[in-house]
Amino acid sequence: MFDSAEIDIPCPQCGHKTKKTVGWIKTHHHHVCGCGFRVDLDADELLAGLGQVGKTLDNLRRTVGKIE
Ligand SMILES: [Zn+2]
Repeated sequence: MFDSAEIDIPCPQCGHKTKKTVGWIKTHHHHVCGCGFRVDLDADELLAGLGQVGKTLDNLRRTVGKIE
């Protein structure tokens, strides 16, 4: 359901952030930065961060619902 959401993947070597979609991350285990550094992807960790964003949105919706 989040497959089209974009996540920034920071490069530990040059600091450049590459945007990748969740769907892409699920099907790849690493990506190679423009500087040539291979960044290993931990899909679980990246997606856990995304889950927290989803929870925050849920809470927001709940709060808005109360106001209405
Ligand atoms: Zn880099």
